[in-house]
Amino acid sequence: MGAQKSFDDLGLTGEVLAAVNELAYVEPTPVQMKAIPAILAGRDVMAAAQTGTGKTAAFLLPTMSRLDRVGRRRGPSMLVVTPTRELAQQIVEVASVICAHTHHRSASVVGGVGYELQRAALKRGCDVLVATPGRLLDLMGEGACSLGDVEVLVLDEADRMLDMGFLPDMRRIVAACPQNRQTLLFSATLSDDVLQNVGTLVRDPVRIEVAPKGTAAQTIEQYVLGVSAEAKKRVLVEVLRREGADRVIVFCRGKHRADHLCRILCKKGFSAAPIHGNRSQNQRARALAQFRSGEVGILVATDVLARGIDVSEVSYVVNVDVPHEAESYIHRIGRTGRAGVRGWTLMFVDEDEYLDLRDIERLMGKKIADYPKAEGLDVGEHPARLDPARSPRDRLPSKKARKRTGRRR
Ligand code: AMP
Repeated sequence: MGAQKSFDDLGLTGEVLAAVNELAYVEPTPVQMKAIPAILAGRDVMAAAQTGTGKTAAFLLPTMSRLDRVGRRRGPSMLVVTPTRELAQQIVEVASVICAHTHHRSASVVGGVGYELQRAALKRGCDVLVATPGRLLDLMGEGACSLGDVEVLVLDEADRMLDMGFLPDMRRIVAACPQNRQTLLFSATLSDDVLQNVGTLVRDPVRIEVAPKGTAAQTIEQYVLGVSAEAKKRVLVEVLRREGADRVIVFCRGKHRADHLCRILCKKGFSAAPIHGNRSQNQRARALAQFRSGEVGILVATDVLARGIDVSEVSYVVNVDVPHEAESYIHRIGRTGRAGVRGWTLMFVDEDEYLDLRDIERLMGKKIADYPKAEGLDVGEHPARLDPARSPRDRLPSKKARKRTGRRR
């Protein structure tokens, strides 16, 4: 069992910690543990961390703990350069939550949308600017944006920017920033290409490398079971009786459902605690601590817990509901089978969830096996039929088409 990790001990300001609470992060991820103190100490950082490791918060939380606020100055004091509009959007979303607590202003300049709003935002002035390279250079070129006040420069997904041919653009952007800035470089890998071309932009950096995520899909034994929606609770109780109720995480959709399942399990004599976004930071931390110590055998969670936190030696994971987002499944099952311990996972699928199951299989490029111990389980009157001939390569109707036509398979 790892030592207790907490955001409270990393040196972030109270305002930023309030934002962490709102973002529902329970514990810092490994890249956050390493990057936050280094960035707070003013060091340059060079980190190998992929999307999904919590890298966005790793650079936003500490910088926004230190950053001045716009006074009469117009230009940003922090600039985040990222390769795509989608990534920029994700960063802005997290930044806005933090800004609401710290009273900084954020803005974004990205391609593919009109210039006018972006010009206006720059004119009003911002503290944190999130940008894609091409559009930023356009706006700099016309005098709408100056980087002379930049104190912190973040180069996000540097390897991808190189792959996309942004090296000359990056060089021009960096050259427009003051020399005595703090530079934070994030890249999925620190390949020779990255080190040679952008590694020179950081000064005496703290080097951080965290294990890539998402090999889980290959190493965990995964099973599915077709059930009726109304039979799920019963089946869960029976599975817990058969397979054991120690160090089990149960995932479901929705906070109320998590509370409800917890009450049922406790009534049936199991020790279970809920963990989700409606619980306070303290309640979540307590539930985790009790789970770690073995006082509580079962955590019932929504996707809040699925990412980022490290509860070691989980014996298995039950997905009572299929997540709408296929990516969430990978995060959920990643809670078991960590650090060389072989884990397994079981997911209940009802008729309405069949296509969500197919999405997950498509994402993984692999079909999930039938639960081999289904015999004797009461799966309800109309359990979903999981077509044994289905293939992860089949084309599936789009989410829109499903909504429009009500198609369920
Ligand atoms: P990123 O690597 O920045 O793309 O973040 C991946 C996902 O992890 C995002 O959905 C974040 O909301 C989430 N996340 C980041 N930090 C934490 C944390 N400490 N605890 C839980 N989730 C987190």
